[in-house]
Amino acid sequence: MLDIMGSTGEAYRPQVGQLRVAGSCGCGCPTIYFQDSPDEGIEMLASAGVPDGSGDMILLLGSATGLHTLEYVPHEGKAPDRWPEPESLTPLHWT
Ligand SMILES: [Zn+2]
Repeated sequence: MLDIMGSTGEAYRPQVGQLRVAGSCGCGCPTIYFQDSPDEGIEMLASAGVPDGSGDMILLLGSATGLHTLEYVPHEGKAPDRWPEPESLTPLHWT
């Protein structure tokens, strides 16, 4: 997802090694929440489409200073229990 964001994504990359998962979604999807994440100014940093024709999306949420959530958004029906291959994603939007 950081690759989608180009140079903006690079600014977050040093944090990635320190990121810890604080929790996951209860529905069985692969959505994860990061520990010590910012609680203000959260916005969508990037979104990408999943290449299986489902219309599902992946969103990266965070503030200008930190990453908050990596969210799997099913278009309809149930989300899978794992992330698709990163190389297979279609960039939709990024900051
Ligand atoms: Zn879920």
